[in-house]
Amino acid sequence: MLNRWLRKLQKLFPVRQILTYLDSANPTSENCRDFTNLSYPQWQHRFLIARLNLALWLAFFFFLTRTILNLIYFIQGKYPSLEEWGIAIILVHFILLSCIFLLRTAWGHRHLGLIFLSSSWAVTMIEQISDTITGNVNPEFFLWILTFSTQATLIPVRWFLHLISQTTILGYYFSVNQIIGFDVASFDWNFVKMCFGIFCVCLICDLSVYLYESLQKTEFNTKLQLEIAYQKLHSAEARYRSILENSVEGIFQSTPDGRYIYSNLTLAKIFGYDSPEQLMAKVNDIGKQIYVNSSRREEFLNLINRDGTVLKFESKAYRADGSIVWISENARAVHDRQGNLIAYEGDIEDITERKWAEAEIKKALEIEKELNQLKSRFISMASHEFRTPLTTILASAEALEHYGHKWNEEKKRTYLHRIQATAQHMTGLVNDILVIGKTESGNFDFNPAPLDLERFCQDTIEDIKLSIDSQYSLNFVVQEAQQLITEKSAQTSVLNKILELDSNQQNHRQNDSLLIAQNQSIGKIPEVVFMDGKLLEHILHNLLWNAVKYSPQGGQVYLKLYYLNNHAIFQIQDEGIGIPATEQKYLFNSFYRAQNVANISGTGLGLTIVKNFVDLHRGQIFVESEVWVGTTFTVILPLNLAKENIDEKNSSD
Ligand code: ADP
Repeated sequence: MLNRWLRKLQKLFPVRQILTYLDSANPTSENCRDFTNLSYPQWQHRFLIARLNLALWLAFFFFLTRTILNLIYFIQGKYPSLEEWGIAIILVHFILLSCIFLLRTAWGHRHLGLIFLSSSWAVTMIEQISDTITGNVNPEFFLWILTFSTQATLIPVRWFLHLISQTTILGYYFSVNQIIGFDVASFDWNFVKMCFGIFCVCLICDLSVYLYESLQKTEFNTKLQLEIAYQKLHSAEARYRSILENSVEGIFQSTPDGRYIYSNLTLAKIFGYDSPEQLMAKVNDIGKQIYVNSSRREEFLNLINRDGTVLKFESKAYRADGSIVWISENARAVHDRQGNLIAYEGDIEDITERKWAEAEIKKALEIEKELNQLKSRFISMASHEFRTPLTTILASAEALEHYGHKWNEEKKRTYLHRIQATAQHMTGLVNDILVIGKTESGNFDFNPAPLDLERFCQDTIEDIKLSIDSQYSLNFVVQEAQQLITEKSAQTSVLNKILELDSNQQNHRQNDSLLIAQNQSIGKIPEVVFMDGKLLEHILHNLLWNAVKYSPQGGQVYLKLYYLNNHAIFQIQDEGIGIPATEQKYLFNSFYRAQNVANISGTGLGLTIVKNFVDLHRGQIFVESEVWVGTTFTVILPLNLAKENIDEKNSSD
């Protein structure tokens, strides 16, 4: 209650002003800016100025009040004489005001002791001197005690000044008055008691000033040390904070339950937040909100709980906008004195660029590896496929040269035909290489034209039949498209490929039944088919030749044709050596040949060319094969695309 009233009182304007003024009379670290640069004497000097100022104003107001009271007494006729007293009192006021003024000057600051003594003497001595002059010597014990104790209370420094002030005042009373001839005091016990009393007051005042001063000195030094330590601490804290804040790595402290309790700006930026505060406020489950793969958090916790630290822990992390960064973490577990886990702390580095670079390097290495393989495949192909025919040509030519004159015409022609056939074979090889070069550089013409597809397939089959052993059985069938849809298990990949093709042409069907329902022409043979006959011949020729080449004698080879959803589907099936599953993905690379080809001759270029030609049709090719069971190549070519191509071409002409 009392405290409440006191607090209210302190808020009143004049009281607040007085309190502020009193506060400023203490040169503490709070109101001394350069506190740490001060020595104790310098501080003491400031203290003396502040306190002298306070004491002088108090003395001035005390005397002013006293003067006013005396004037009132005088007016009421209660005060006998004003004259001497008047001069004395004017002098006191004048000296006090002069001291207040001097205290504000540089001279005054240099002579604080003099101002102290002057003010002290003004208060006590002038009246004594006045008494001496008027011959009315009276000890002013009360005024002296008041002066000494006030000085000791308000200006508790430089005890020696206090002593001088006290001895001069008392010395004057007891010695000067005596010398001049006044009887300062008749010996009575009361007087002795008063003298003893004033002696004790002086002693207590000086002692308390001395003790207070030494206490202040200790306090000053302690405060100074504290202030210096605080400043050091502050600058160390600022330095460490700056290191943390400006670190190129994200620095964090997180709770075991997955919240960030400290983050620097870098970490917030890594995770795409504007500030650490935002990161700490928004992320309350690191496992779910930060890690893309939330099991990484568990791995992190397991590792750190087992080893106490986690080093270079790499994971994918979500940013605030949902994008993904790669991060690398170093962290350690933090325990309290009792050994309880309280937090994890460490640093996080954004390694996205490094990961990209690694991926690029890996890709480049793979390409280089592929190129090397390509080179070695080319060399092995060239050494075999070129050397053998060249040897044949050379041997035949030499035989002709040396023995030609002995041979009949028939034999000579046989040798010449051999040379021609082998040279033609080599030209074919070179052509294949040129075709690959042309298609890969995009310089190959694609000229679709109306085509009777079934007739075309039939002719191709017949063509091949002419040049192969009669033991092979080569068959052409036009199959019901419905079969592809109903025999889903076996043909799912075919359907998927068609759906894929459709989606490429922005005509993606949601599912097979929708596909069937929406397309009335499913399985129907289209009236006109537009395709590039030259390219298609190459495709079918190559695949059928391979089917024969890689089948044992007497093997069955099928060419099946389906129409489905504006696509022609060609399936070339054989019961040959098959292709190992691990090698199937490399088949369309130039010069690639599967391990199981043994000594069946080939260049590894045929399928590359087929793939390029299928691509020109914007079609798809894929293989299903099992070693020693057989191989099925499926080629899917869109029918309309080829027509669109022609339309485009015509309109541009
Ligand atoms: P090649 O001149 O070697 O036949 P291709 O490019 O036509 O070149 O074929 C590449 C490889 O694919 C062949 O070497 C062979 O290993 C494999 N291959 C292609 N078709 C078949 C098939 N029908 N049966 C088994 N393997 C095949």
